Amino acid sequence: MAESCHNRSYYETAIRNEEFGPCNKCRKPKTDDDWCQSCCSDRFELDSKFNNKWTSGNDSIDGFVRRAQSKARNHWEVIEWIPYKRLINVKYLTKGGFSTINKAIWLDGYIICWNDIKNVWNRNRYKLEEEDYLDYRTLKEDEKFGFHVVLKSLNNINEDFLNEWENYLEFLYSAINNYANFVRVFGITQDPKTKVYMVVLEEMKRGSLRDNLLIKKYNPNDKYHNLYEIACSLSALSKPSMTHGDLHNGNLLLKDEFHIYISDFGQSRQFNQSINSKDIYGVIPYMAPEVLRGKPYTKASDIYSFGVIMWEFTSGVPAFHDIPHDFNLSLQICKGHRPEIIEGTEPDYVELMKRCWDNDPNKRPTAKELSEIFDVWSAKYLMEMDYDKRKSVPVPTIIENHPLSCYISRKIDHYAKLNEILDQGELSSIIVIDEGKDDEGKYNIESELEELKI
Ligand SMILES: [Zn+2]
Repeated sequence: MAESCHNRSYYETAIRNEEFGPCNKCRKPKTDDDWCQSCCSDRFELDSKFNNKWTSGNDSIDGFVRRAQSKARNHWEVIEWIPYKRLINVKYLTKGGFSTINKAIWLDGYIICWNDIKNVWNRNRYKLEEEDYLDYRTLKEDEKFGFHVVLKSLNNINEDFLNEWENYLEFLYSAINNYANFVRVFGITQDPKTKVYMVVLEEMKRGSLRDNLLIKKYNPNDKYHNLYEIACSLSALSKPSMTHGDLHNGNLLLKDEFHIYISDFGQSRQFNQSINSKDIYGVIPYMAPEVLRGKPYTKASDIYSFGVIMWEFTSGVPAFHDIPHDFNLSLQICKGHRPEIIEGTEPDYVELMKRCWDNDPNKRPTAKELSEIFDVWSAKYLMEMDYDKRKSVPVPTIIENHPLSCYISRKIDHYAKLNEILDQGELSSIIVIDEGKDDEGKYNIESELEELKI
C-alpha cells in the first residue's frame, strides 16, 4: 500500500475484495501488497518465543504488543517491543502536560515487510548524518544507520492504561487508513536504569505549530493547506466517541515545513481521568466555553479549538499569549470574548473562524464541512512548496508570553465557580466584555470582579 493510498474506503474495500492476491505461503488473501496478516502474526509469535525471545518484563505490556502484532494488516499497524539498547543518543527534548519527551535514534528502524529470502524483517532506516552523533568516528559501520524517533514516558502502567492505548491504536489505524495525519506509534521501550516505560513515536522534525506560527504568518497561503490537513484528520475520527479533546498548537506537529500531524489525541483524558471523573484538563485559550463550564469534550469542542488555531495562522502568535490564563480568561471566553481579528484577514475566512468558535456548539461546522471548504481554498491559494521562494521570518522577532500564561495541558478546576457566576444573569450587565485593554494589556475585569467579591 503506497503512502498516498491510505484511503479507508479504498483500503477496506481492497481487503474485502481480496485485491492484494493470495499469500505465496499460506494461500490466504493478503491484507496489503507486502503483508499477510496470518503469516506475519505467526512470525511475530515465533520472534517473541524463540528468535528474539523478547519480553518487556510486564505481562500486560507483552500482551498489548502481541495483540497489536497479531491484528496488524499492514506495516503501519505494527508495534514492537523495542530494546532500550537499540536506542542511542537519547536526549531530553521537552516536557508535555503528562509526560517527558526525549528524542533518540532507533538503530533498527521500523518494519516494512518480511524478507522471504533472508528470513528477516525488512526495515526502514537511513544513513545518519555525522551531526547526529557526539562520537561518530568510534561507531561501527552498522551503527551509522537508524531512524529518528521520540520517546514519551508513561507514568503509570496498569490494565486500564493499556486498554486506553489499545483504543488509541484502533483510532490511529482507522485514521491513518482514512488519509489522516496522525503521529505514528512504533512501539514501547523501558529505560533499564529508571525502569520508566516509554512509547516510541515518529519524530516530527520541525516541532510544534507553536514553534512555527511566525513562519506560517509570513507564508499566508500555508494556512489553507495545513487547516485542510487538520480538518481531514479530525473528520477521520469517524466514530462518535472519537474526539481529540485537547487540540492546541503544541500537539499539532510539523513533519517538515509543509505537513501538519496531530498527536496526543484523547490522551489528556486517557492519562488523567477515569471515565466517571468530572475533572477537566486542557489549555484555556483552546477550550470551548461548554468545556470550561464542566461539560465533556465533544467533536464540536474540537472545532472550537480549530477556530482558535485558524486565528493563530493569521496572527503568528498563540491566542491570548499576553494575558494570564486564569479564571478571568475562562470567564471572558464563556461570555463570548475571542482573539481580535487580524486586519487584512479574508472576510470568508473570518466568517468561518467565527462559526467555529461560536459559543453555541450546535452552530459550529463539522470537521467534514471544514475539510471540504479548505479543500477548495487550498486549491485556490497554493502553498509555496519551493524552499527557495518561501519567505523567512524577519529577525529578530521574539514573542513574549505573559508569565501567567500556560500552554501545557493541566487540570482546570474552576468550572463550578464559573457556572455559579455565569448563572447569575445580572452579571452580564455589569461586566462589559471587549471593552479593550489598559496600557499593560490587562483587561479591566478584575476590579469589577473584586467589587462583586468573587
Ligand atoms: Zn500467509
